[in-house]
Amino acid sequence: AEGVRLQKVLAKAGVASRRAAEDLIARGRVSVDGEVVREQGRRVDPDTAVIHVDGLRVVLRDDQVYLALNKPRGVLSTMLDEQGRPCVGDYVRDRRERLFHVGRLDAETEGLLLLTNDGDLAHRLMHPSYHVTKTYLAEVDGSVPRGLGKQLKDGVELEDGPVKVDEFRIKDARPGRTLVEIVLHEGRKHIVRRLLAEVGHPVRKLVRTAVGDVQLGGTKPGTLRKLTRQEIGGLY
Ligand code: URA
Repeated sequence: AEGVRLQKVLAKAGVASRRAAEDLIARGRVSVDGEVVREQGRRVDPDTAVIHVDGLRVVLRDDQVYLALNKPRGVLSTMLDEQGRPCVGDYVRDRRERLFHVGRLDAETEGLLLLTNDGDLAHRLMHPSYHVTKTYLAEVDGSVPRGLGKQLKDGVELEDGPVKVDEFRIKDARPGRTLVEIVLHEGRKHIVRRLLAEVGHPVRKLVRTAVGDVQLGGTKPGTLRKLTRQEIGGLY
């Protein structure tokens, strides 16, 4: 769908949390382009909508930076490495903002890592109760039996507790190798590698292709891009 949900735009602008913004909307305190909006879930274009809360214009903050890095293999998910090893901070060294990485990827994992100076968002996205999905492409050993998807969706017991995947797809199968896509909303360390090893298919290569609706797209490792307003709104 086009646009960003009004409560997310309000949360992003720092007006209120998303829940509190829903409350403001329900109480008829929010208008868009001069009309009071009471229904939840109205989508607006954050670049053009004129939004008022209690008659005061909502100014969308422009001091916040949201970046998507295609982290190459061999790069650590830290802003600074004391031993001078390659880290994600190297890719934003020339920027003035104090950026945080949102979560981590293993050094050997490639793919989408978000960087932002929006501490609230970084904090919320990493909280387990915040169910942002993460999508991974994994090249695994062996040919994957038909029932594996169901097994993974039903849940697999790991040493630190069970894990369930939301979606599972076989993308490509070759002799002795299978490329699978996994969607889950977990943040435990090495979770995808541990899960797939547990079911007998160790990971040879792992790429994170999406976080929520933010896609890695066709970028090369090492590429940094700004998120669109739409993508940012979708994270709130
Ligand atoms: N799961 C892993 O095993 N590694 C990652 O980097 C991310 C998820």
